[in-house]
Amino acid sequence: MKLIIALITVLSFSLWGADTVIKGTTKVLTFSKIPSDARVTFGKKSIPILRHPTDTSKYIAFIPVNYRSAPGIKQVVISYDTGEKKVDLNITSGHYKSETITVAPSKVTPNAQQRKRTAREYQEAMKIYGTFHKKRYWNQPFIAPMHSHITSSFGTARMFNNTLKSYHSGTDFRAAVGTPVHATNDGVVVLAKNRYYAGNSVVIDHGEGIYSCYYHLSDIRVKKGDVITQGETLGLSGMSGRVSGPHLHYAIMLNGVQVDPLHFHAQVNRLFENAPPAQ
Ligand SMILES: [Zn+2]
Repeated sequence: MKLIIALITVLSFSLWGADTVIKGTTKVLTFSKIPSDARVTFGKKSIPILRHPTDTSKYIAFIPVNYRSAPGIKQVVISYDTGEKKVDLNITSGHYKSETITVAPSKVTPNAQQRKRTAREYQEAMKIYGTFHKKRYWNQPFIAPMHSHITSSFGTARMFNNTLKSYHSGTDFRAAVGTPVHATNDGVVVLAKNRYYAGNSVVIDHGEGIYSCYYHLSDIRVKKGDVITQGETLGLSGMSGRVSGPHLHYAIMLNGVQVDPLHFHAQVNRLFENAPPAQ
């Protein structure tokens, strides 16, 4: 028998109008009930429907809003056999800062051989981030990769050596070379190697399209395939790759999109609030 459709959260969205979401951040949709054949899409992207981590009667969907999104209304579409619902998101530009950075010229204008390498590394990374594993490892709230000052937030508009325009795709933590870097949740190591821009890098798959990334390390202490527990030391911070000084660059890839990692942590961790204590 078909489930009765009662998209309570979705209905409340239509009553209250569009929800404002800053580009580069994550919107979490919660469904009290959802048809078993429902599909969620945001633009051209198919968004997985996941179990709520603490409330077995609910489902959730993480909507990653790309930093390069144009401001304005964008719709999440929930379609199912007998109809569809739309949720308006009002995308805004936020108040991201800007900064100028000086790095080695070869990290801004790589030669042909280096470009070949970066292209290969980009392809490899995109293949990883585009892979969806059903097994959930994030069964608890996320923690910070280290306790330190944030020296550059996600989303800061950047100009490298007065020539290359970019934006900051993660959060930088101040860290002297050799500071331990911790896994922010349980998962599996899917990348542990040196890369041209990211330097010594570790990427962890937390399942369900969530990946965390730890860059510019001086030393990598894990290898591909390792099963990791939250808080485990993945390596030591450093200044490998494209940097102007030692720090940890921490990033989250969600459904193939870079999102503000600490904002994502906060959104996920709210799902664990008011949860009954573990038995
Ligand atoms: Zn960074």
